[in-house]
Amino acid sequence: MTKFECACGGLIRVSGEIPNPLEWKIISDGDFDRFQGAVDAEGVYLACTSMFRCPGCGRLWVYWDGFEGSPVCYVPEG
Ligand SMILES: [Zn+2]
Repeated sequence: MTKFECACGGLIRVSGEIPNPLEWKIISDGDFDRFQGAVDAEGVYLACTSMFRCPGCGRLWVYWDGFEGSPVCYVPEG
């Protein structure tokens, strides 16, 4: 999948432009704690979960199970 439609109708591009302006990388404190000292950026990158923020509505789409799974959507309150 290279893109999907947000619930607001906005288009979320998962691939294409690098770095992706809609993509954020998140990592748990526990996973981050496994890295010590000077680290390999690629290693940190691979340990991260990908999240996309819709520029139209601010919904967050998190790929908790990697890109093989479906993203979970979080809607800003109010
Ligand atoms: Zn949206």
